[in-house]
Amino acid sequence: MSVYVFGHRNPDSDSIVGAISIAYLKNQVEDEEYIPACQGEISAETEFILDKFDGKLPLLKTSVAGERVFLVDDSDSLLFQDDIKEATILGIVDHHKLGDLTTNAPLEMWVRPIGCSNSVIYEMYKFYGVEIPKNIAGMMMLAILSDTVIFKSPTCTKVDTKAVKELAQIAEVKDYKALAMKMFIVKSATDGASARSLNTRDYKAFDMNGKKVGINQLEMIDISALDDRIDEIYTDMQSMKEEEGLHTMLVLLTDIMKEGSLLICVSDDLSKVESAFNCKLENNQVWLAGVLSRKKQIVPFLQPLF
Ligand code: MN
Ligand code: MN
Repeated sequence: MSVYVFGHRNPDSDSIVGAISIAYLKNQVEDEEYIPACQGEISAETEFILDKFDGKLPLLKTSVAGERVFLVDDSDSLLFQDDIKEATILGIVDHHKLGDLTTNAPLEMWVRPIGCSNSVIYEMYKFYGVEIPKNIAGMMMLAILSDTVIFKSPTCTKVDTKAVKELAQIAEVKDYKALAMKMFIVKSATDGASARSLNTRDYKAFDMNGKKVGINQLEMIDISALDDRIDEIYTDMQSMKEEEGLHTMLVLLTDIMKEGSLLICVSDDLSKVESAFNCKLENNQVWLAGVLSRKKQIVPFLQPLF
């Protein structure tokens, strides 16, 4: 019986590339067949990566009851298929806080507080002594550059920078930062996108002590491209809050050049947001200088207030 490898809902590049890079590695060292999968449509950024390095689109897998699965880039049930608890989890590779998923049998876990799941996977290849194919190396390199915002994110570690440099050599990419900038330009495109598609582009729901908190992040080269659309984004956030039964919905418009995020909030209790980030909201907004990472600079400050 095959094993499906996949990352979180609203898959990002780390989730898609992670499924591909783990499946390849596992297929070299184990007898079972590992199949890269995903839970939804890929982003324009991920499409750029797959095109550039000849990557195949993983299989769409929206139901996993009775299946054997291997997770990458999260371990929180809210971010997986509705029937994930009826699947057998063989392993987890991640770089987030530990989620609520548990297992009946022993499993394999590779979890480290570094910049990208693909940096963990890079170390797994070293551990097993498996050579990384050129095209997979290129994809892993871009996934790491995406997750670490070209090394600017506070989540970025020496493991990540070292991995990128080595992967760039294998992939024969000389100027990996220039290629990453091209990728971020693709990621930054918002023309023609509806408010809802913007608000769900990198949306994650969190269970904060029984209250559901939704956080979306848009990483852009220049967030002023959305200046005229803030009201529309805010109105749609109010609808999403109703539809998803959220206590709080946050949107982070992250400007990777200015190195900070405009936080927009809709909440039953805005004072929680103000005390989490020690700020005063104006028109439900605040500029958070230096904030680039949802997992390291947003979630850990908000969660304790619930
Ligand atoms: Mn991710
Ligand atoms: Mn990641």
